[in-house]
Amino acid sequence: MSKNPFPFETVSRRNLLKLGAATGVLGPLALGTGSVQAVNARIHVVIVGAGAGGTSMANRLSQVLNGAKITIVDTREQHYYQPGWTLVASGVWEKSKTVTSTADWLPSGVDWVKGKVAEYDPDNNRVILEDGQQLGYDQLIVATGLQLRYEWIEGMDTRLIGQGKGVGSVYAGVDEAAKTSEEIDQWIASSQGKGLFNLPPTALKCAGAPLKMTFTTLSRLEASGQREAYDVEFMTPSGRLFGVDFYNQFVKQRFEEQGVTRNDHWTLKSLDSDAKRATYSVEGGPDQVKDYDFIHVVPPMTAPDSLLNSPLVNQEGESFATWMKVDRETLQNPDYPNVWGIGDVMGMPSNKTAASVKMQAKVLEQNFVAHLQERPLPAKHNGYTSCPLITSIGKAMLVEFGWNGELLPSFSFIDPKEESWTVWVMKERMLRPAYYAMLEGQI
Ligand SMILES: Cc1cc2nc3c(=O)[nH]c(=O)nc-3n(C[C@H](O)[C@H](O)[C@H](O)COP(=O)(O)OP(=O)(O)OC[C@H]3O[C@@H](n4cnc5c(N)ncnc54)[C@H](O)[C@@H]3O)c2cc1C
Repeated sequence: MSKNPFPFETVSRRNLLKLGAATGVLGPLALGTGSVQAVNARIHVVIVGAGAGGTSMANRLSQVLNGAKITIVDTREQHYYQPGWTLVASGVWEKSKTVTSTADWLPSGVDWVKGKVAEYDPDNNRVILEDGQQLGYDQLIVATGLQLRYEWIEGMDTRLIGQGKGVGSVYAGVDEAAKTSEEIDQWIASSQGKGLFNLPPTALKCAGAPLKMTFTTLSRLEASGQREAYDVEFMTPSGRLFGVDFYNQFVKQRFEEQGVTRNDHWTLKSLDSDAKRATYSVEGGPDQVKDYDFIHVVPPMTAPDSLLNSPLVNQEGESFATWMKVDRETLQNPDYPNVWGIGDVMGMPSNKTAASVKMQAKVLEQNFVAHLQERPLPAKHNGYTSCPLITSIGKAMLVEFGWNGELLPSFSFIDPKEESWTVWVMKERMLRPAYYAMLEGQI
């Protein structure tokens, strides 16, 4: 795997300390559960999914619910720090930096059922697992994340990644992220050719990741000393690169400056991986075919099938029809008040990031406990989401915003509209410990 070839200036010690304190890495932080009084609750809570949201809630609720039985359901033995995958696919991190064990994050006393929910039956307060086992509950938290729909792109198969056919995708998994980096290396080693970078026609987790992959690849092309030998194109199904106007304009301009050709209203439809050819449906016109040497595929995404086939999904015609129905402020399902959501599975504007999960976990904990006490739900999610938008290897911008794209900066010393080495350091060194503190329910 390629090593990061870029030498860096030293970040100021004062800002490093401030960053550390703010992200919970160096300084003590108030425990998230500190604001919620423990309650006696002889109930059974089932949490579906032991990723970022499910694990955070298992830790939080095990601290505040006295006498409750908490069961978490997931088959996955490994816990993935997914925000690190862009660094893996960019040749900056080894993949092992993003993998830990699920068991290490689950609090003692929480039952881990190693299975997968196949069916939700909220009318009878139960979920049914793939092996037929039924789990009854008093309260249910759905934290399954989302389903990647590579199969909706004809000819695409994640097994193509790493076969030397020029196919990459940072989303497919940690092994595929590492192989994506190798595919980019091979493309660069061929000394010429065309790279195609894509956005999907659906909502996506970490909407900045496809842009980050383009920018870090551009850094690697620059580092080859022959940038002009390579063509880079970016396809957008909607005509937008990012939901927030300022960053949308910023990336458009930066692409222009860096010689990236944009094709708006193009959606990846099929791949012929042997011929290295991609077909796009183009709004208002005939399909277009592009030859490539490297393609970064970003699949369409929806809630998992089991949820789509359940009464917990938004109805057809409603906004976010392929996602879980929740009140976007309280995170409670409006039809079944003992069902809650957290994380990527939920239907709401943006908000498919671990940074959102961190905010949602606090809201959900407070509302969950209030609901058990038959009090009005006190906490409201403000739509906060965040993503360090990597603009080159060694620089990033800290993008933080709410429901309407309004900027919600957390740090007085970081300008949300400026790229900096400081934010890169934050992404590269500090967000992973902060993420793990979130899993443990500490921030
Ligand atoms: C490439 C990439 C880059 C990213 N970059 C960033 C970033 O820079 N910043 C940021 O904040 N976020 C980033 N994210 C997004 C972040 O990782 C997710 O938003 C976050 O993990 C969502 O948490 P979750 O709990 O909803 O889902 P996940 O963490 O994905 O966990 C879902 C869990 O549910 C389980 N599950 C699924 N279906 C079932 C079922 N039927 N039964 C039982 N269990 C089930 C899965 O096995 C999984 O363990 C990135 C993600 C990717 C892929």
